[in-house]
Amino acid sequence: MRVVLMLFFVVGCDIVSWAGNYVAKDITANVFTITPDRKQLHTLGWPNDIINSVVINTGNGLILVDTQNSPANARLIKKGIMEIMNDTTFLYVINTHGHSCHSGGNCVFSQNKIVAQINSHAEMKDYDDLFLGQTVEFLRQKIYYKSFILDTITSEGILSDSIKQAIDLYKYYESDLLNNYKVRYPDLTFEDTLTLRAGSVSAKLIYMGKGHGDADVAVYIPEEKVVCTGNLFHLGAYSQESMPSFYLNRVNEINKWIQSLNYLLDGKNQIDYVISTHGRKPMNRRTLEFVRDYCVAVHEQVKKAKTTKLAIEEVQKTDLFMPVFSQYRDVVNVNKKLEEMHSRNISIIWKYVTD
Ligand SMILES: [Zn+2]
Ligand SMILES: [Zn+2]
Repeated sequence: MRVVLMLFFVVGCDIVSWAGNYVAKDITANVFTITPDRKQLHTLGWPNDIINSVVINTGNGLILVDTQNSPANARLIKKGIMEIMNDTTFLYVINTHGHSCHSGGNCVFSQNKIVAQINSHAEMKDYDDLFLGQTVEFLRQKIYYKSFILDTITSEGILSDSIKQAIDLYKYYESDLLNNYKVRYPDLTFEDTLTLRAGSVSAKLIYMGKGHGDADVAVYIPEEKVVCTGNLFHLGAYSQESMPSFYLNRVNEINKWIQSLNYLLDGKNQIDYVISTHGRKPMNRRTLEFVRDYCVAVHEQVKKAKTTKLAIEEVQKTDLFMPVFSQYRDVVNVNKKLEEMHSRNISIIWKYVTD
């Protein structure tokens, strides 16, 4: 019998348990995050150094939010959940959108109901075409070629590390193909909002609008005062934890974001914890309020600039946005990194706001 060494220690108010290959963190008495403990480059996706899945204990089975980037990582967290909960009755498995690091492990939940916004189907298909359209032979050639280059490098460093990572990626990818891995699409989709009820909790899924991707949803669990925001606005992925980042070359529906955030931030909705898939620590209601107010300010100032023929460069400066940044001094600091992100945001959103 394998003995799992499990250590418990307290970080702030979070209980962190470590069982060798994953980290689980309690958010509330019935909600925890589970994260593979090391960078696992794997097929269908781009490398992310942290991918949190969220587990909600309904008292009558579990709800899982996001399935990792690959079957290997999905199996890893599924095993971890079994160790922690002694239960893998997944009543619902929710994908916050269709990008691979949120849905790449869906096939490991073949007996469970996968729920996602309707546009996620096309996102999953894109990844399917991009990654699984290859052959084992093609991958083996890549591995052979990269190994050959690695042999010619005499010193260890950034270059040799990146080649080793690429080899790992192709090997994982090859193993998925050999294991006949298939993209698994959602069983239950919706357009705007959907409420799932299970045990003592309800999970309210709210479509946020196009921005990060085409199918992003926030999952609100009122009984636990928790919101899972997936990859929305890339919150929590950078050191500038709370600054939303708009997306180049993607459709950015800023009006819809403001509308969805207003819906989520309705005064009756209590929100204590905001959990993002790639963030290192939970955020809170203030973070979402800042995002909403920043989006409102961006929309207003860009619209005004277009009407008064003010140059885009003027809106790219943080001066016009100081009222909102000052009001949320507890959430963001105005520094060089924020100024760069803001300037980029304006350049992206400019074409999506009409006067
Ligand atoms: Zn994404
Ligand atoms: Zn992601």
